[in-house]
Amino acid sequence: MEITAGVHLVPGVIAHPYLIVDPEGLTLIDAGLPWGANRILKYITALGYAPGDLRRIVITHADGDHVGGLAALKAASGARACASAIEAEAIAAGRQSRQLKLHGLQKWLFALLAPIFKVRPAMVDEFLVGDEVLPVLSGLRVIETPGHTPGHVSLFAPSAGILFAGDSMVSEHGNLRVSRGMNTWDEARAVESMKLQMALGARIICVGHGPVIRKEG
Ligand SMILES: [Zn+2]
Repeated sequence: MEITAGVHLVPGVIAHPYLIVDPEGLTLIDAGLPWGANRILKYITALGYAPGDLRRIVITHADGDHVGGLAALKAASGARACASAIEAEAIAAGRQSRQLKLHGLQKWLFALLAPIFKVRPAMVDEFLVGDEVLPVLSGLRVIETPGHTPGHVSLFAPSAGILFAGDSMVSEHGNLRVSRGMNTWDEARAVESMKLQMALGARIICVGHGPVIRKEG
């Protein structure tokens, strides 16, 4: 599903992966749950590209529904993985980058669901430190957005006015809300990260969960 010129949301994968088509190759933002990897590869093929055309996979954070397909996608494509050092350490260990704040029944439920979110460890090839500009969409700036997790990053392309916010924000009922609750590492920092992102003036905001938000006009 093309969101704007050259930017696709790969449908049917949790959480949303976004595929960017540039003349120099393809870039994927987040890799979905483990079984999403095949869907992403099929989507790439359906666009007329080969898996080897995928050059770069940027991971916003180490949660299983964002990093689950990374090992399989790297193996199929040879793409380079990029993430912050904090998230990269967790990705290499096949774990999350922070503890969930679980109570009572939640602990039991999480233990039950844990196998679904279990991911294969993967190596990150390039550590993102924030403020670097990737050669994607005429300049895709990495923004440190801690809060949901300690090393979360978002990406902003001023030329297209598009922001990829990962799980730093959630899209609900046509609005954005900040990451909060048991899966949020630091709620105060999450609020700061949301403020920072809302000041960018993005026209299109793509999040991991919920519909794309458009601020036209
Ligand atoms: Zn998350």
